[in-house]
Amino acid sequence: MNIHEYQAKMVLRKYGVAVPEGEVAFTPDEAVKVAERFGGRAVVKAQIHAGGRGKAGGVKLAKSLDEVRTYAKELLGKTLVTHQTGPEGKVVRRLLIESLTDIKKEYYVGVVVDRQTGRVVMMASEEGGMEIEEVAAKSPEKIFREVIDPAVGLRPYQARKLAYAIHIPSELINKAAAFMVALYRAFVDNDCSIAEINPLVVTGDGNVLALDAKLNFDDNALFRHKDIVEFRDFEEEDPREVEASKFDLSYIGLQGNIGCMVNGAGLAMATMDTIKYFGGEPANFLDVGGGASEQKVTEAFKIILSDSGVKGILVNIFGGIMKCDVIANAVVAAARQVGIDRPLVVRLEGTNVQLGKEILNKSGLDIVGADSLAEAAQKIVELVK
Ligand code: ADP
Ligand code: MG
Repeated sequence: MNIHEYQAKMVLRKYGVAVPEGEVAFTPDEAVKVAERFGGRAVVKAQIHAGGRGKAGGVKLAKSLDEVRTYAKELLGKTLVTHQTGPEGKVVRRLLIESLTDIKKEYYVGVVVDRQTGRVVMMASEEGGMEIEEVAAKSPEKIFREVIDPAVGLRPYQARKLAYAIHIPSELINKAAAFMVALYRAFVDNDCSIAEINPLVVTGDGNVLALDAKLNFDDNALFRHKDIVEFRDFEEEDPREVEASKFDLSYIGLQGNIGCMVNGAGLAMATMDTIKYFGGEPANFLDVGGGASEQKVTEAFKIILSDSGVKGILVNIFGGIMKCDVIANAVVAAARQVGIDRPLVVRLEGTNVQLGKEILNKSGLDIVGADSLAEAAQKIVELVK
């Protein structure tokens, strides 16, 4: 799960990670009210679940309350297109109004789970403000890493080593190290998957602050972070994915025209690959799970059909935990209820497959059967042409 910058800063503040003073605003009036606290000199920042806002005009430096109002009006309701939003962009509905910081230099600090070492790693670079992927590609020697032992956490000497390596001014090394240790604690305590501070800045009056903050959380651990779940912003998510999550369906919307309904993530991936192999484009990834009930299958059909880009559907189900006849009944019942108006290819395999096929044949519905995944994929690719 992803949250907004202002929410991430609320979390970080609790751990003693230094961030500028600021507050969220939903209207220009609210924006002005917050900015009054800073005497009108404020930064107006678009809050969307994507980075690259600065370059896209989503971060404005205001020198007066009038400017704050003008920028707030301009940004609220605007569709911001950054290199992370995709070409369709994201609508700005919230702003962070923050005190204007006197930046001396920008740095980068990030915390991630490193699969190679199986540990949490803190990365730092003096190339702040830039995309870390770009730094990694152009000057990898400018990224320093410390692998963290989970038993003892980030040691102060490791933090100081990173701070020295990225040339934080010597009188601020301890402040920077304390910042990093606090950031690591926030990361671990909240089961984050990413914590990225880009930029971390050194200010004219000798402070070390997080000017930007991005936190991602491990969905599997959210059950123990009710306060974080409160931060979820449904407007930032694909409505199809929100609907799917209500029914415990793993769904990811894609750009193609073949809707897929599959049980098991591995089979879903294989199905998408096979569709592509035969020249088609999947419209989604959808795993209905091992225990696909009739209700789940019905909801899955509804979500797939609500996508006007879908020109045909491929159902590929392996009856393992779930028997094929049960699945066939669910498919038929769901198809009747929803009313399927586009080509439908169904491939069943596994326990009671013959029974399942009979149910499909006798249903009187316009269902195209297939015996193998390759055959099913070829048929649906042909039908949507
Ligand atoms: P993004 O990463 O989405 O572009 P950032 O929060 O990193 O957004 O902001 C982009 C740039 O705007 C920063 O690199 C910094 O130079 C400037 N900026 C952001 N917040 C402030 C602030 N509070 N005071 C002064 N400048 C800021
Ligand atoms: Mg940034």
